[in-house]
Amino acid sequence: MTAAPIEVLLSGPVIAELSSTARAALPNETGGLLLGWWETNDEVDAVIVRHAIEVPDRRATPVTWVRRPSTARTALSRALTALKHPLLGYVGDWHSHPESCPASRQDQASLLRTSLQYEHPVLLLIHLPGGVIDIAAGYAGQPRSAVRRQDEGAA
Ligand SMILES: [Zn+2]
Repeated sequence: MTAAPIEVLLSGPVIAELSSTARAALPNETGGLLLGWWETNDEVDAVIVRHAIEVPDRRATPVTWVRRPSTARTALSRALTALKHPLLGYVGDWHSHPESCPASRQDQASLLRTSLQYEHPVLLLIHLPGGVIDIAAGYAGQPRSAVRRQDEGAA
């Protein structure tokens, strides 16, 4: 059975948060966690991504940013408390590439590794110059295809 592509809806403030956080970190990379929720039924796996929070890495460079687990846990619980949205949870990771290059082999490997820890597929968004957002997904250690769904304005 071939799984249908995951539908990814970038909703609410997430795109603005990605852009402003990425811009503020220049010339270095930065990144963090994606918050949203899953809508899964027989036909489709969809993920609504509402927020991108930053997990600062003081040792980030123009080509590296490392998600440190304890900083990530703190940022996640702080954000969930502050945002007070009952559906919000961790749905994936993001980071910026100041140069226009897509997910690296290492990025893909770490996505697949992370996906082993979750019941749902996990997303990786890469924010590229010019507001381009590269989307990848992994599930149970394997790549999953993902397509961006346009915002219907309802979310
Ligand atoms: Zn990268």
